[in-house]
Amino acid sequence: MLGLENKVVVITGGTRGIGFETVRAFLEQRAKVILFGSRKETVEEALNKLANEGYVVKGYYPDLSNYDEVASTFAKIYQEEGRIDILINNAGISANKKIEETTSLDFEKIMDINVQSMFNTIKAVTPYMKEAHKGVILNTSSIVSIYGQPSGVGYPASKFAVNGLTKSLARELAPFQIRVNAVAPGITKTDMVASLPKEMIEPLIKTVPLGRIGEPRDIANAFLFLASDMADYITGVVLQVDGLATN
Ligand code: NAD
Repeated sequence: MLGLENKVVVITGGTRGIGFETVRAFLEQRAKVILFGSRKETVEEALNKLANEGYVVKGYYPDLSNYDEVASTFAKIYQEEGRIDILINNAGISANKKIEETTSLDFEKIMDINVQSMFNTIKAVTPYMKEAHKGVILNTSSIVSIYGQPSGVGYPASKFAVNGLTKSLARELAPFQIRVNAVAPGITKTDMVASLPKEMIEPLIKTVPLGRIGEPRDIANAFLFLASDMADYITGVVLQVDGLATN
């Protein structure tokens, strides 16, 4: 029904959290998933976990901030699979220091992982999608790309840039039938959030009109929809998946 069977999907940051759940969601749709992680050990751990669930998945750990390494990994995937239908850029890091404590290096690092890496994977995959005259690129933004946040300025700045990449490339690549969209999660229960004490979580839940924190599956479902044939006429959007939270 979603038309994702046998589609070749590359998911960055696929070893845990939202990315791992997205890997699972696409596997359930019988897509061919290739996950990227930052280290050999975490990639192997994720592949073993999936193998125990009965899924055969390939994994790589290119340095996403190195274009040549990223491009040669995509070339290898293309050579092995014959196509790359969907790219999901999910890898990312966050920040929460105040401006006085944020160093230039901190700022550079977050832009490097959250923005430059995304540019690199998109630049590497685009030739294959252009050749196929079809493709889907999905980027992970955040609701802080709409509202900002009161600390860790590099994080919202990077996510505003993600929206810019998304909307601009959607225009540039539309003539090639390549759709480019972003998903902007609100606070979502990944390892980091799950380990927060109840006293911190409860006030956060009160800020969400739908009355709960997002689950990784909520975000994975948005990726499924935007990657599917049901979203064939949707490009250039930043889809908020946040229970109507505003911060
Ligand atoms: P997480 O920390 O659980 O997972 C992050 C993933 O990114 C991991 O798989 C990690 O391997 C990968 N990664 C991090 N740095 C990397 C690097 N240098 N090179 C390659 N891979 C790297 O985080 P998450 O909460 O699942 O977040 C996933 C995405 O969702 C991020 O882009 C994040 O900004 C976004 N997001 C999360 C939330 C939330 O509340 N959890 C809210 C809004 C947006």
